[in-house]
Amino acid sequence: MAESMPRTILITGCNRGIGLELVKQLLLKPTPPEQIFATCRNPDAPQNQELKKLSAKHPNLVLIKLEMTDSASIGKAAKDVEKQLKGRGLNLLINNAGIITDSTLESVNEKDLLHVYMTNMVGPMLVTKAFLPLLKKAAQAVREAEMNWHKAVLINISSITSSIEKVPETYSFFPALSYRCSKAALNMLTRCQSVVYKEDGILCTAIHPGWVKTDLGGPQAPLTVDESVHGILKVLCALSEKHNGILVDWEGNTIPW
Ligand code: NDP
Repeated sequence: MAESMPRTILITGCNRGIGLELVKQLLLKPTPPEQIFATCRNPDAPQNQELKKLSAKHPNLVLIKLEMTDSASIGKAAKDVEKQLKGRGLNLLINNAGIITDSTLESVNEKDLLHVYMTNMVGPMLVTKAFLPLLKKAAQAVREAEMNWHKAVLINISSITSSIEKVPETYSFFPALSYRCSKAALNMLTRCQSVVYKEDGILCTAIHPGWVKTDLGGPQAPLTVDESVHGILKVLCALSEKHNGILVDWEGNTIPW
């Protein structure tokens, strides 16, 4: 039987990498979502034509301009989406957009730390706050008690490098200090959101997509973006209450905080 998809989805950072592949695979599902809101900071830029072409071909794909570090841009995006939803809610929000910089304990500086924190942690928090009324609306529209993507799900795309327990095994070959700290903060945010938003029926989970060949992951990464997203969608389909407030990888394995 074909997997049933959430009816309405918003994903940030969809012009390349994991975000773009999520959009592509969702569009190819036998019963695709009724509306996919794909955000990117500059939908008209020449390098973002692949996403633009997809939206011209698929009426259920709507491009939304959104800059993660600008609260006015996030607020406007939420208004645009609300208008397009015509009274319906948002079943799935994926905070995917993110950046990485090369930083170690020696090289890191204030500007780098703040920029990465702003994009990877403050941005997702503001995006979630702005779209929360729409997530709540979707959760309220479904009577069943069990939290899953038929009601409302919030996903924060994190990283295994955020895991404090795993630092001794990962730091030496992948320091990325500012990135790690930002994603560890994003995990804390996810955990707090999972406690508070549970009352509204919204499931909150952090997902590590694996080490993936994208601009961010680099060419030496073992996973293709196709494999990673295939896994992420499988995990998303299977999410239930027991995944609330935890970090899982693209194969569904729990990663310790
Ligand atoms: P990419 O570098 O390929 O894509 C990053 C996306 O984020 C782009 O769409 C980019 O848009 C967007 N973005 C960055 N900054 C902003 C901003 N300020 N406002 C709006 N959009 C922004 O990365 P991936 O696809 O690999 O990464 C996606 C997520 O997965 C990230 O959160 C990353 O941390 C996480 N991840 C990735 C891993 C990997 O191995 N690839 C491993 C673990 C986690 P633009 O083109 O405009 O810059």
